Amino acid sequence: CGIFAYLNYRVPRTRKEIFETLVKGLQRLEYRGYDSAGIAVDGPSKNTDINSNNICLIKKKGKVKALDEELYKKDSLDLDEKLCTHIGLAHTRWATHGEPSALNSHPHRSDKHNEFVVIHNGIITNYKELKKYLITKGYDFESETDTEVIPKLIKYVYDNRESDITFSTLVERVIQQLEGAFALVFKSRHFPGEAVSTRRGSPLLIGVRSEHELSTEHIPVQYKNAHFMEINSHNSSDCSNTMGDDKAVEYYFASDASAIIEHTNKVLYLEDDDIAVVTGGELSIHRMSRQAGEDPVRAIQTLQ
Ligand code: GLU
Repeated sequence: CGIFAYLNYRVPRTRKEIFETLVKGLQRLEYRGYDSAGIAVDGPSKNTDINSNNICLIKKKGKVKALDEELYKKDSLDLDEKLCTHIGLAHTRWATHGEPSALNSHPHRSDKHNEFVVIHNGIITNYKELKKYLITKGYDFESETDTEVIPKLIKYVYDNRESDITFSTLVERVIQQLEGAFALVFKSRHFPGEAVSTRRGSPLLIGVRSEHELSTEHIPVQYKNAHFMEINSHNSSDCSNTMGDDKAVEYYFASDASAIIEHTNKVLYLEDDDIAVVTGGELSIHRMSRQAGEDPVRAIQTLQ
């Protein structure tokens, strides 16, 4: 029901600060109604290679307050660890498919290694066909939700890629198969520090807070009037790189402006089938190229 995501790029934030931002975002969306809540963040990160870019999911049935308490129970997550560039996802769920439970709450994941995770607001009306297809391909489902086909599908496209593929192309391939209404934000171990979001029929907006005027080069013409200007300055010294081209920036993705307004008043509303990607701190948006009349299930089969 409520989506909130926060991306800090070269802005030092402790895991605790990130938790606080995510929880506050969810609290601002509580008025919309919900039955459970969850988040996805990086960590534990002081690990061997096999666990690098690890994503951690924490989900709880009931109030945001219950989730908030749960966040501080994970010994493995260092609250003081500074994450200079990070994407955190948060969600309040109003169950449409599958009872309210921790397992059915969001974020949903592609697999037990959390390669791809997603938060979804809306309903996927063709989820049964997609689920059936993905099961025949060996993907295991753990929830009763319509949403879970989305992370499974993105992993399927990723696993069957023939060459290098960008995160936004993966998302585009996925939404070409989806019917219904959705606002989505994705995070992936394969694309650390990147976020991809998109919508069709459900609202989604992006707030930007930066000490630099952002380039509008990759922003479609309909958004050019949104002047992304200085709102607040950050101490980004801990996060600078040797290239000296730091552009500290923070992005907020939310179902409605009430969750963003305390951080920035520079927002843009995504339109249907827009795909917004933040990579290397830069936001770019493009419209999905849809193949008219394509049968979603048949189209998946051509990916084999
Ligand atoms: N249809 C999804 C579910 O039942 C998302 C519901 C929502 O928008 O909260 O999990």
